[in-house]
Amino acid sequence: MKIICIGRNYANHAKELNNPIPKEPVIFMKPDSSLIRNNQPFFIPDFSDDVHHEVELVVKINKLGKHIAKKFAHKYYDEIGIGIDFTARDVQSKMKEKGLPWEKAKGFDGSAPLGKFLPKSTFDNMEDINFHLNLNDKAVQVGNTKDMLFSIDSIIEHVSKYFTLKIGDLIYTGTPEGVGPVKAGDRLECFIEDKKLLSFNIR
Ligand code: ZN
Repeated sequence: MKIICIGRNYANHAKELNNPIPKEPVIFMKPDSSLIRNNQPFFIPDFSDDVHHEVELVVKINKLGKHIAKKFAHKYYDEIGIGIDFTARDVQSKMKEKGLPWEKAKGFDGSAPLGKFLPKSTFDNMEDINFHLNLNDKAVQVGNTKDMLFSIDSIIEHVSKYFTLKIGDLIYTGTPEGVGPVKAGDRLECFIEDKKLLSFNIR
């Protein structure tokens, strides 16, 4: 399976990092070795002094597809989950300066904690889903899918032009504003609406 991530999908997050608002989805990937499941702890890697949390809704693909039209995209997933796109911001900044790829900053081991999923039928409207991240019991990132620059269905259409989507592939759909550093001893808890689906400690 592969993990496809969307960058700069919320205008206020693009602004907080002084990035332009993209005209088409910004895409990068993480390897399967980046996943952390079952609320296992995250260990801060020794090559970064500035690892940021980015809470994101995650779509799990349930059907093989390529060149998927937006109007059919909803047939390619039936569960929505939540995860963190950990980012070594100091490493990423250096790579951005040089125009280099982001994989070392985004795809390192453990950079993709993944929580439980909810069936799509839980939601009335995919474009009005609330989610948030609590850091040490304080809400630090609060998002709603209505603020996405590219909706879930638009993302699936765009991504599948380039990459065949396979059963079990994951799409991290971008983070709202409020990203920031984590430190050893922190506790992260991720919610979709009022359901806590992911909680783990930083070591
Ligand atoms: Zn992200």
